[in-house]
Amino acid sequence: MKKKTSLRVQLLGILVAFVLAIVGLIYFVQTTFLDDFYMRYKVSSLKSVAQSISDLIGEDDTEELFDHLGMNNEVCIRLVSNEEDFCYSGACTLRNLDHNTINLIAAETVESGGEKLFDNFRYQHRFNEHPEDVYIFAKMINYDDEDILIMVSSGITPLNTTIATLKSQYLLIVGIILMMTLVLALLISRFILKPIKQINEESKNLSKGAYDGSSVRTGSKEFAELNSTLENANEDILKADRAKKELLGNVSHDLRTPLTMIVGYGEMIRDLPEENNEENINVIIEEAKRLSVLVDDLVDISKMQDNVIDLNREDVSLNGLLESVYHQYERYCEGKNIDLKLKLNEDITINADVKRIKQVLYNFINNSLNYNSKESQSIVIGTEKYDGFTRVYVLDNGDGIEEKDLDNIWDRYYKVDKEHKRHQIGSGIGLSLSRELLKAHGFPYGAESSPGEFSKFYFDVQDVK
Ligand code: ADP
Repeated sequence: MKKKTSLRVQLLGILVAFVLAIVGLIYFVQTTFLDDFYMRYKVSSLKSVAQSISDLIGEDDTEELFDHLGMNNEVCIRLVSNEEDFCYSGACTLRNLDHNTINLIAAETVESGGEKLFDNFRYQHRFNEHPEDVYIFAKMINYDDEDILIMVSSGITPLNTTIATLKSQYLLIVGIILMMTLVLALLISRFILKPIKQINEESKNLSKGAYDGSSVRTGSKEFAELNSTLENANEDILKADRAKKELLGNVSHDLRTPLTMIVGYGEMIRDLPEENNEENINVIIEEAKRLSVLVDDLVDISKMQDNVIDLNREDVSLNGLLESVYHQYERYCEGKNIDLKLKLNEDITINADVKRIKQVLYNFINNSLNYNSKESQSIVIGTEKYDGFTRVYVLDNGDGIEEKDLDNIWDRYYKVDKEHKRHQIGSGIGLSLSRELLKAHGFPYGAESSPGEFSKFYFDVQDVK
């Protein structure tokens, strides 16, 4: 794999390039366009002053206003008509224009349609031997049948020295900004890159379930969140790993029992021909069936992991389905200290895959049988009305489940630490399979429990008729 540049170097590179680009742009714009911008600004302020004056002419007490206009905009104003000739804003170049020049300006202004900009107007000051370049904007208006020539002028400051000063400052500015960029890069590296590096290092242990979040100095909210997500993932990996081992142990245990029975009974029938009777052969068949159910459930688990469970849905009587499940357990519970009851509400028709729903119920009932250490056990398979649904439940008086475990028992491979017993019917692979099956049906499900008192597992169905 091609060696990748580190984030720190990339970051520094980007910052330096960014700074150089910005400073370069400012340098280019200022040195190339400063003159241009300055001229445009001057001309537009001359024009706007001339416009204000032409708007104000005819109003009372304009003298003071014009003076202000001139001073605020640093321009000189001269108004010339047949009768009057006024200059505003103190000493200015326009004051010294002789009548010939003024007439020339007036004529050219009229010729240009009433407005004209005289740029680089070379003006020889009376007391100054060097001529001065000025901008004059002239506007000819007609007020009360009288022609008035408005002239607004401004001196032009040569910018060459300014630009030269700016240029010499740029090197200093670039140097300072680069230093600041370096400090910024160090700070970013400290607060952002360091936690990333630490988290990255630690995550290499994730696959082994050995991520240690406490050694990461997070610093900010986002890193703390990332760290805790990885810690949770680590916890899940450990949990899954433990559970997989346990599952494997349980499954092999569940496989071995029927296999031992099949081999034992088979050998007995082979060696003792008088034992070749229906009862013994039925034991072999029953145990083989149990094996086949277990294998089917294992296949389901793997399908579930790939999200491909096909449902064979049909409309069936709910009570009929529950009665059939009840009868399957009835014989098993007879003669034992297990009180199994069926409490049914009025019948409804549900749309479900009968085999799968039975599988869920078997799992609930098997758990009720398995997780009960009381002398006399009681299990109720029943239905009740609940919030517009019909709730199907399996209630037992068993060991119950702690509040903290209630949410987790549906997780794949989750087991509350207890001794594993052999399941009576079905494989007992678990609530996670039941959850996937109920989800695939779209039936809401849940569990309630009080440790030492009861557990109730349920799902909600609706009448489709
Ligand atoms: P398994 O029964 O194979 O352990 P399940 O997924 O069926 O797996 O059940 C998960 C866990 O939930 C069980 O290990 C058990 O601790 C708990 N549990 C399930 N049903 C009951 C119940 N009726 N009473 C008490 N605990 C239960």
